[in-house]
Amino acid sequence: MSNIHYLSEQLSNQIAAGEVVERPASVLKEVLENSLDAGATSVIIDIESGGVQLLRVRDNGVGIEKDDMQRALSRHATSKIFDLDDLENIVTLGFRGEALASISSVARVNLKSGYQGQKDAWEVGSQGGVDISEVKPCAHPEGTTFEMRDLFFNTPARRKFLKTEKTELGYVLEVVRRQALSRFDVAFECRNNGKQVFKLPACESQADQERRIDDVCGKQFVENSFHFSQQNDGMTLSGWLGSPTFSRSQGDLQYFFVNGRVVKDKVIMHAVRQAYKDVLFHGRHPAYVLFLSINPDAVDVNVHPTKHEVRFRETRSIHNFLYSTLSRVIADARPDDVMSGQRIRAEQWSTGSSSEVVSQMSQQSALSFSRSGALTPSALNVAEQLTAYQGLYQPKHDARSASPDISQSSLHAAAGGVSTASLASPNDTAEQDIPPLGFAIAQLKHIYVLAENTEGLILVDMHAAHERIVYERLKADYAAQRIVTQPLLVPYMMGASAKEVDFVEQHADALLEFGLEVQCAGPTSLQVRQVPALLKSSDVESLVRDVLSNGMINDGDFALDDFQNELLSSMACHGSVRAGRPLTVMEMNALLRDIESTERSGQCNHGRPTWRLFSLAELDKLFYRGQ
Ligand code: ADP
Ligand code: MG
Repeated sequence: MSNIHYLSEQLSNQIAAGEVVERPASVLKEVLENSLDAGATSVIIDIESGGVQLLRVRDNGVGIEKDDMQRALSRHATSKIFDLDDLENIVTLGFRGEALASISSVARVNLKSGYQGQKDAWEVGSQGGVDISEVKPCAHPEGTTFEMRDLFFNTPARRKFLKTEKTELGYVLEVVRRQALSRFDVAFECRNNGKQVFKLPACESQADQERRIDDVCGKQFVENSFHFSQQNDGMTLSGWLGSPTFSRSQGDLQYFFVNGRVVKDKVIMHAVRQAYKDVLFHGRHPAYVLFLSINPDAVDVNVHPTKHEVRFRETRSIHNFLYSTLSRVIADARPDDVMSGQRIRAEQWSTGSSSEVVSQMSQQSALSFSRSGALTPSALNVAEQLTAYQGLYQPKHDARSASPDISQSSLHAAAGGVSTASLASPNDTAEQDIPPLGFAIAQLKHIYVLAENTEGLILVDMHAAHERIVYERLKADYAAQRIVTQPLLVPYMMGASAKEVDFVEQHADALLEFGLEVQCAGPTSLQVRQVPALLKSSDVESLVRDVLSNGMINDGDFALDDFQNELLSSMACHGSVRAGRPLTVMEMNALLRDIESTERSGQCNHGRPTWRLFSLAELDKLFYRGQ
């Protein structure tokens, strides 16, 4: 007698269901994918009791022919692929032909469908996958309704793994969100216990799409993200990338679609994380809605039953493409992109001459300054203000095309001298916008710079902002192997541990590339002869000590990008204008212009925001104005 026997069809379906059907949300995912595969342009979802009691999806897709109705519920039955070639070129979301069979084996299901161009419609049902009913006529327009009730009614052990109704509903709605983001061209409607949760009309324009994202992800996301699209080698990456300062405590607003399919893939996640590396506050998570479209034969979706993972043929080129595109989007973000894009030409520009406006602005400034007492009277001089404005403000496109070489801007201004840029020949100002971050009006407690722009009040954390500016400058200079150094008038002698001396002995050349000339002066002393010019006013000893301790932690592996950046970032901290130093109005304006022209300047090296806008509307709200 043989011990091995064949499983019944129901049991083998129930086993398959173990992989695909974990909870109501996974049922909904499969059923929605079927609707989208059927070409539906409108989908209506009904949920009861977190989807355990009832899930119903009605679509207006092509429908199912009478003869296919029973087969649709059977295992290994699909209309989507025929042979291996098809498997290697999947263009539909489903193809395994087991979803409906699996769901049927662990629930009560009913399928109604009207096939395109036919006036009759048909219905079929099953309880736990056994005894698929005869096909009966029914009333149904073109399209399909799939209904599932009492999930796991016949597999009580699995039912026990379900969470509370509320939790299950949460998972179900997340599936709706994902699918709704994956297909802007399809209208989605979703009701829970008869109450409407989502009503998302099909989108035609980008504005429509952003409205849908508002409904699905909350209002703030689009406002705080950058929209972009980039093509390369037959691949397109597009979508909305959250600003680094819009980070979240959880990775719960991260949507990545590959050819319309939601994926959580290691390569992708790694590339995205890398792109945010330099700008995200420790322990925070970025937010994004991104779409990658790629030739179907370059990606294998048949890796996992639920198809959440994919395998790319060319992992490396995908990673590079994602990383380089996303980090560029982040680097290019400038204040006016961040500010709702509504920067308008100040009305005064069209009515008066630029000098009138500037003088008007500086008179307003005079008022605030005299109150704050932070400025010398000469800084309020109108003519001077005008020159500063004309010289300092680099129009956006100029600043960008100059990147990453930002040497024309006035990085050292806030650290000491007046910007060299202010000496540049005046631009033709007659037709220019007020710069995105506006003009400085005061300094608060020697920590924050206050500025006024067309939209309201800008507050800048001057240390954080300057730190980023110095960091980006150092990075660019290091990459070009031209960190400008400044010899110290008198070499600086400092005590050091034997380990530090040892480290300097081994890595003096590498340190020189970072603009630090350090030599051993004895078994426990070092001599510093040169420092980067950008950091010339910093405390030499603590700068060197920081660099050495950083270097020793990282075993002196100077070739690593990450380590280089870490080192430059910690050096930048030393060169930045510390909170507590008074700045002149020119210095403040120079700092604002530098923020505008510097990559990644919305965040300091540690991912903290460098500036914030308080719009007039927000301020009005604060004072109940107009209420
Ligand atoms: P797969 O999607 O992998 O083909 P399923 O078990 O999900 O397998 O579905 C089986 C078949 O039933 C599909 O191939 C399709 O032909 C048909 N089908 C299922 N749902 C729908 C629908 N909403 N509209 C049209 N056809 C459908
Ligand atoms: Mg399917």
